[in-house]
Formats: sequence, structure tokens, C-alpha cells
Amino acid sequence: MYCPFCSANDTKVIDSRLVADGHQIRRRRQCLHCSERFTTFETAELVMPRIIKRDGSREPFNEDKLRNGLLRALEKRPVSIEQTEASINHVMSKLRATGEREVSSEMLGNVIMEELKKLDKVAYIRFASVYRSFEDIREFGEEIARLGDSD
Ligand SMILES: [Zn+2]
Repeated sequence: MYCPFCSANDTKVIDSRLVADGHQIRRRRQCLHCSERFTTFETAELVMPRIIKRDGSREPFNEDKLRNGLLRALEKRPVSIEQTEASINHVMSKLRATGEREVSSEMLGNVIMEELKKLDKVAYIRFASVYRSFEDIREFGEEIARLGDSD
């Protein structure tokens, strides 16, 4: 691939390892022309179900949207980018495991919440409060109380 710094196409791999539970290969590359180093991630491309939105319209599954949603919920939380990437992979595996060609946005939201609950409870509450738009403060409190019980 082309060097992102000088666009030369002579780069070499200087390190390569499995990340995100073995779902990705991370490669460190060095440009033979300008000697800058950069990282690439390699993942298998698998077909994801389409998402049925609340209004009935369909849209392609969007991994960037999922990542941005998780990163927003995880802002300033003690969760590494590798843990976040692993969660993204779990969400995608679960969606593929349904074997469906289309899944509802509600189901997607529930799968994301299950993952966040395991990852970071504050992030879970943040995501859930936006996603479920808690009707009142009492409902929000009950959700937090349930989280406490599950420990
Ligand atoms: Zn270069």
C-alpha cells in the first residue's frame, strides 16, 4: 500500500500481531522511502445484515456508526481501544450469528447494551439513557439499581 506520508509504494512490515481476540491483524509498517512508520489493521470482510429502522426503512450496517456510538458512550472511561474493538467484533458476530439478512435497530441496540454492560457500567448507562430515552427519572433510577444487583 502507499505510504500515507509521502505516497511512495515501497513499505515493509516490521511487526505483525493478532489483536481484538484474534479478529484482526495489526501490522506496523515502515516506508522504505521516507522511513515514517504507520499501522494497518486487517479484518475479514463478512456480510452483515441490513438494519431495519424504526420507521421501517432499511440501511446498510455501518461499522463506523457503531464505533462512534461506543466511543461516545466510553468517553473518558478506563476502557482501552482494544477492548472497544473487541466489543465491536462481538456485536458484529452476534448480528451475523442470527443468520438473518435484516435485523431491527432495536435488536442492534440491545446487543450493544449487552456488550457495554460487560465493558463499563457508566458507558452502559450513558448509552441506554440515550437509546431508550428513559421516560422519567424513576425509570433511570431503577435501571441503575438493577445494575447494582447484578454485581
Ligand atoms: Zn513515505
